[in-house]
Amino acid sequence: MDRGKNHQLHICFFPFMAHGHMIPMMEIARLFATRGLKISIISTPVNVPQYSKFTERSKILGYQVDILVIKFPCVEAGLPEGCEHLDMALSGDLNRNFFTAAGMLGPQLEQLLKKHRPDGLVADMFFPWATDIAHSLGIPRIVFHGTGFFSLCAAECVRLYEPHKKVSSDTEPFVIPNFPGEIKLTRNQLPHFAKIEGHHFAQLHIDIKESELKSFGVLVNSFYELEPAYADHFRNVFGRKAWHVGPVFLCNSDFEDKANRGKEASIEVLECLKWLDSKKPNSVVYISFGSLARFTSSQLLEIAMGLEDSGQHFIWVVKQEGDGQEGKEEWLPEGFEERMEGKGLTIKGWVPQVLILEHVAVGGFLTHCGWNSALEGIAAGVPMVTWPVSAEQFYNEKLVTEILGVGVGVGIQQWVVVVGDCVKKEAVAKAVNHIMVGKEAEEMRTRARELGELARRAVEEGGSSHSELNALIEELRNKKI
Ligand code: UDP
Repeated sequence: MDRGKNHQLHICFFPFMAHGHMIPMMEIARLFATRGLKISIISTPVNVPQYSKFTERSKILGYQVDILVIKFPCVEAGLPEGCEHLDMALSGDLNRNFFTAAGMLGPQLEQLLKKHRPDGLVADMFFPWATDIAHSLGIPRIVFHGTGFFSLCAAECVRLYEPHKKVSSDTEPFVIPNFPGEIKLTRNQLPHFAKIEGHHFAQLHIDIKESELKSFGVLVNSFYELEPAYADHFRNVFGRKAWHVGPVFLCNSDFEDKANRGKEASIEVLECLKWLDSKKPNSVVYISFGSLARFTSSQLLEIAMGLEDSGQHFIWVVKQEGDGQEGKEEWLPEGFEERMEGKGLTIKGWVPQVLILEHVAVGGFLTHCGWNSALEGIAAGVPMVTWPVSAEQFYNEKLVTEILGVGVGVGIQQWVVVVGDCVKKEAVAKAVNHIMVGKEAEEMRTRARELGELARRAVEEGGSSHSELNALIEELRNKKI
């Protein structure tokens, strides 16, 4: 598409303030920018720096990208001043108030849309009211969920058919009805809001689902070849209009872009890669639970002992309950760091995940199954140990282990809000070895590599995701005309 065309489309992006939503939304914005569209990202003040690397790079590359700043109503919603990112509001009332604040952003969105009159609004699922606001101004609203087709369909089947109400206990498995594949879950593995009557999140969940139907369509960070049955199900059975454009992180071809996703890394990126350079291919397991999940000291201790017992080399990214406080040494086993010198790297904070995963030395990934991480693992062609914690991660686990056959579960039984369920060291060691050594590990690796190859082809010119993005832009253009 020619960037000099007279009718340059202008699209506003309105991400929810959590890394798992902001990072892919920024990458989608970048995809639009590379096609010559003008992009505006709506952000609250505290989150602006997260986008500034992206906007600086965009300027160098000649893309038209700017940031529109709105106020986050912290005080009005009972949050401390500056609490504008979900990772600052993980527990109890703070979390609830955070969503209240997010729900109060409508009037500011309306003002921005009236002023800038974009040709489209891509707004996060957590802003279901954005559809009506955009609609009243004649602007098509596109929903961005941040997850894939499998979990979108699975969650909708559970919501509509309520199979969890037909079992007699929290641990009795049920099959997700009217859903391709014989996928079994237990009530314990469902989100609280999906099973507790009157839960404060339940209405939001319904509004989200309804807004999908009223919107221009749904943008999905996935690729058709990964989950064709579920992509079809979402469109044909649930009647959603959807464009799959992922994996969107593959738009980062430069080292700089890959190194700067999300927060500033807590380790020198080059130091981390140098450490990996000293390892044999497929000899290191990478362990990370995304940006939000936290663990208790006793769980971290079990992980540490499990990793040591597995005998595998590792990079372990640690996020602890009550993070921000010091005290790594308190939970590490006695002498752990000395014994693991050269063998394991324990990093507290943020790492350049995509660069680590695509390093040839990394041969496995222990993941919480956040959708971005799962996709990044798949695209890197590595087998995974699945350790879901919350959100839709239990559905993603099923896709990875049972449908794609590229992972094994560590055995998590309980959905929790942010602090993970308890797993013993023996289970950690067993699962890690399962994906790192032996025939089954090799078979999973082969399948994962094939999927990784399909992922790359999907985003290349002529690939399914590349073509879908073109189709969406064309539809938006036609709508404008
Ligand atoms: N991520 C990262 N470094 C970290 C932790 C996370 O780059 O130390 C990135 C990761 O690559 C992914 C995103 O943050 O793109 C996390 O999203 P995901 O859906 O996996 O999990 P969430 O954080 O939403 O639970």
